[in-house]
Parts: sequence; structure tokens; C-alpha cells
Amino acid sequence: MRRIVERDLSPESKPIPGKPPELCPGCPHRSVFIALRNLDCYVAGDIGCYSLGVLLPFEAMDSLVCMGAAIGVGLGMRHVLPPGKHGA
Ligand code: SF4
Repeated sequence: MRRIVERDLSPESKPIPGKPPELCPGCPHRSVFIALRNLDCYVAGDIGCYSLGVLLPFEAMDSLVCMGAAIGVGLGMRHVLPPGKHGA
């Protein structure tokens, strides 16, 4: 903003390199995602820190629609999953 106001046309500095988002080191969701991944079940997710369960190293979430959607999606999965497959 300051650059625009001051009509500064010099090249912008490069952004500081970032890192992918991740759960806090001691986050209790970590053990939950590890358990869900090991169960090999379908997991309906929700918006929040725990959305990061969809990413490596967990890859333990199969749907992520919007805040509060996990219950509805999870219940819906129960009607369409093949016999023997479980949702969480
Ligand atoms: S829920 Fe969010 S803020 Fe809390 S420990 Fe986990 S990642 Fe960190």
C-alpha cells in the first residue's frame, strides 16, 4: 500500500519463502489422523486447523466441504458406501 501511495515503481522485493501449513507439533489431532488413516476408512472433514489432515503426512480426510458439513457428508456416506466400507 505504501508503495502505491508513494508511487514507488521500483521492482518489488521477492516474498519470503514459506512452508506448507501444518498442525502444531503437539496437536492432539495428529494422533486422530494417524488412527483414521490406519483404519483405512472414509473420513468426512470440516473447516478448521484439522483441515490440514487432508495433507501429507496424514492424507486422512476424503471430503472437505465447509464448516459443519462433516456430519451431513458422513451420514450421507453411510447410505452410499459399498458394504464393508466404513465412514468416520
Ligand atoms: S487445533 Fe490447531 S491451534 Fe490447536 S494445536 Fe492443533 S493445529 Fe494447533
